[in-house]
Amino acid sequence: MTSLTQLLKHSVVSKKPISESVYTSLLDEQEKLFLPIQNMAKKAQYLHFKNQVYIRGLIEISNYCNNDCDYCGIRCSNKAVQRFRLSDEDILTCCKKGYALGFKTFVLQGGEDLLFDVDRVSKLIRQIKKEFSDCALTLSLGEKPAEVYAEWKKEGADRYLLRHESANSNHYAFLHQSPVDQKRGRTAIYRQNCLYTLKKLGYQTGAGFMVGTPLQTNQHVVEDLLFLQDLQPEMIGIGPYIPHPETPLGKISPIPTPTQRFHKTLYLLSLLRNIHPRALLPSTTALATLIPGGREKGILHGANVVMPNLSPEKTSNKYEIYKNKLNTGSESANGLATLSKALESIGYEINKGIGNYV
Ligand code: SF4
Repeated sequence: MTSLTQLLKHSVVSKKPISESVYTSLLDEQEKLFLPIQNMAKKAQYLHFKNQVYIRGLIEISNYCNNDCDYCGIRCSNKAVQRFRLSDEDILTCCKKGYALGFKTFVLQGGEDLLFDVDRVSKLIRQIKKEFSDCALTLSLGEKPAEVYAEWKKEGADRYLLRHESANSNHYAFLHQSPVDQKRGRTAIYRQNCLYTLKKLGYQTGAGFMVGTPLQTNQHVVEDLLFLQDLQPEMIGIGPYIPHPETPLGKISPIPTPTQRFHKTLYLLSLLRNIHPRALLPSTTALATLIPGGREKGILHGANVVMPNLSPEKTSNKYEIYKNKLNTGSESANGLATLSKALESIGYEINKGIGNYV
């Protein structure tokens, strides 16, 4: 074991924060440390979760968005998008379909759509929690004022996902430089404060970022890891950046190759499993989209959650945040058996429990 991995182990066992310089070395020495860190991650994963992988039923409720993130295929400036918005009935039908398949967590995800306002979402939360009282409800609906998060928590929402995107103010600004976002005053600090608010309100909170965006440096990633260390989220979603050609960022090159982005994501998943041993870490659709078998690779590097898509077929290919998002076979709820087989082939199995952070 190298001194760096020993240092990492010691910090985790003694619950001492990891310093910026150690994070920097861990990132700079990715090639040398890849396997030892993965092995440590697998041990931590087994210790806390055995070979269990939690499933969350993802429901994409709207691809309307008021924001204009420079990397996102459904940003408001992209006029080529065919927009959709599910009705409340559609959403409840998705939950019913998922519940019948054994899902115990529903994730309502959407762009920042003004028509999904406080009252409408509150009503939906009440309906879902009443009809599926043994299920957890996760929201992923973007930045909201503290009173809105508080209202939704009071109505029964359990968890909230909000990737912080980048903890570095300059890199965050680079990812959000469109006039719409600039005018709206979107900043890294504002987004981070949303996450601290969510934690304070008692949500199981998920943060995260993309790996390999144009101009992202190891120093930026170190800042992401330091932020996560401070926030202590219950869930951490990271995935490789996949360009969307109809976005400003999608036209910027060069960027790391798909293989480089894939490997770095796997390495970071392993690192995160070591640093946040009990966290719920999804193996994201972006991993599976970038390289065949990517989802299983994510699990083998420390991830312990997958999020099959319960959205209706008529809309499930329209939530295209990045290009060619995988949406077939085991990515659909109908493919649960396929997913189960794929996990079995690498020694893991689906856990249909509620999967709270413990
Ligand atoms: S990343 Fe989210 S907030 Fe940004 S444009 Fe896309 S859907 Fe909207």
